[in-house]
Amino acid sequence: MSDLVFFIKQVMDAPLELSFELDPALAADRLGDLLLEDPPARIGGQLQIEKIQGSILVEGSLQGYLYTTCSRCLEKAKISIDSPVRLILMPTPQFSHGELELGQDDLDTVYYAGEQVDLAPHLWDQVIVSIPQAPICSQDCKGLAVRLPHVSVGDSSCESRFAVLKTLSLKQPEDGTPAAKP
Ligand SMILES: [Zn+2]
Repeated sequence: MSDLVFFIKQVMDAPLELSFELDPALAADRLGDLLLEDPPARIGGQLQIEKIQGSILVEGSLQGYLYTTCSRCLEKAKISIDSPVRLILMPTPQFSHGELELGQDDLDTVYYAGEQVDLAPHLWDQVIVSIPQAPICSQDCKGLAVRLPHVSVGDSSCESRFAVLKTLSLKQPEDGTPAAKP
């Protein structure tokens, strides 16, 4: 069990301070190919968990790094994670149909059922949104080193490929009907 599981009753009287280290093994399902296993990710942080009215506020930060695949060269890319955490935990409503009050766009609302909450999946979600869409191993990554065979100008195989493209782009339906004929 992760050390990010806490009991609701633990925070009823006083705020709970939590230092944590995320276990990459628990994120394999969630991150899939985004997270390389080797070298392992190291992401930790601090949280304060406190009761506010009918819900529980979780605030803190995540710091560390993980390795993913460079979108240019497909080598390992180290991604630094430094992200604030702000979650609102609310008990799952008994009658959820149309009664949820949404609109707190700046807060991530998490519904829980039962006596305890595991924050780890929600923190990994925060990690996922911190990973750039196109991660790169370094600013001056040159991308894949593609080695083309020597091609002389006017190479016939090259020209024949272009010839195929021409026939494709010029091909038009003869009578305008969809090509569903046998
Ligand atoms: Zn790269």
